[in-house]
Amino acid sequence: MLGIKDSEHSGQPGDGWIGPAPSIDTPPPGPRARLLIDRDERCTSPSNTRDYPLVVRRAYGSVVEDVDGNRYLDFAAGIAVCSTGHSHPKVVSAIQEQAASLIHICGSDFYYEPMIRLCEKLTAITPGDFPKRVLLTNSGSEAVEAAIKMCRRHTHRKRIIAFYGAFHGRTMGALALTSSKATQKVGFGPLIPMVSHVPYGTLDALRDTIFKQQLDPGEVAAIFVEPIQGEGGYVFPDASFLPELRALCDEHKIVMVCDEIQSGAGRTGKMYACEHYDVVPDVLLTAKGLASGMPLGAVVARETVMDWPPGAQGSTYGGNPICCAAALATLDLIESSFMNNAATLGPHMQKRLIVIAEKRKVFANVRGLGFMVAVDVVHRQGGKPDAAKRLRICKEAFTRGLILLPCGDHSIRFCPPLCINQTQLDVGLDVLDEAIATVTR
Ligand code: PMP
Repeated sequence: MLGIKDSEHSGQPGDGWIGPAPSIDTPPPGPRARLLIDRDERCTSPSNTRDYPLVVRRAYGSVVEDVDGNRYLDFAAGIAVCSTGHSHPKVVSAIQEQAASLIHICGSDFYYEPMIRLCEKLTAITPGDFPKRVLLTNSGSEAVEAAIKMCRRHTHRKRIIAFYGAFHGRTMGALALTSSKATQKVGFGPLIPMVSHVPYGTLDALRDTIFKQQLDPGEVAAIFVEPIQGEGGYVFPDASFLPELRALCDEHKIVMVCDEIQSGAGRTGKMYACEHYDVVPDVLLTAKGLASGMPLGAVVARETVMDWPPGAQGSTYGGNPICCAAALATLDLIESSFMNNAATLGPHMQKRLIVIAEKRKVFANVRGLGFMVAVDVVHRQGGKPDAAKRLRICKEAFTRGLILLPCGDHSIRFCPPLCINQTQLDVGLDVLDEAIATVTR
């Protein structure tokens, strides 16, 4: 059974179809790709991290084409961003129609309906049976940054708690909360002060040691948590972790902020990952998949918490009309079919990964919810982490026409567009299996 009908953007024949994938005729990087990489390397920031040389010309659905005409299946969706697939016709026409009537006017200063409609929509689909308000931003980091300010101002408290392994972004405030890779922080301090990190997945240290011996919970404005850690390695906490964290926040009147920037917008088979754990945060942050690739983030907060006065926060572009139109079209598609597709096909993907893990002995800890799936790459003997092999597998898969992304120390994440169908998933997983066979030969 295919998860999504052809007419619903599976990357099959139809509008915009760019052909079957994988299809590698010119081993990448081909001549056009090499020329562009050469130019790129002379002018772009050396901080970019490209694990393999994919130079993209266009993409449609779950298929990406490079500048030399090779086609790849996309199991990464631009880091879990292209939720409705690349260039979904409904998203494209929403963008085009909006661009033809209003590109920008500044939502901090004036009113326009796409922003109002989107904020209404976000208050309706975000968990919590209470009045909410929404601030729209240009990125995930900016949403984190705004939430830090809002929580400090609202509580008149200064301390913020985040978790080891967390990724919340790279601006100075968000970076202070990030604790994923040391390289992300080296040389940038001092970051914002009064941020503490505690172990993820357990509250023992926080409750029994830190709150007793190190800092008074009455000084803590907010606890920022990813319901499932993303960049840190797709880490799924025990079912009790988030409910216990919710209770701890309630006990000490600490604002609970769920960073759903990677896990939200239908990726896990529900609109937000916290719904799997029956937890309602006071503040929910969303971005990435929200607008199918247009730059948009949102802080969705309890009305009582988003109580700052005019001028306390603002942005020239935040909630730009085109991004709002793209988000409205995206949310329609996610709600009407793609979220269910992730819920239906995610378990199939995991089952097949378990078979590959048993056969090839280099994968451990297959885990996931919906299309937020990962494996650890390990040594065949002894099962120790093997980051070098992880990279070799990603590179080999790429040369065979499959786009993969690493995460954490030694994990590979699978976060395809939510529209991908079962045939495409199976073909991609066959490619992965062959790539592992080559790497371990
Ligand atoms: N929070 C989480 C959970 C993320 O995964 C990311 C991006 N990987 C961010 C925040 C930062 O988002 P952005 O890159 O849009 O600033």
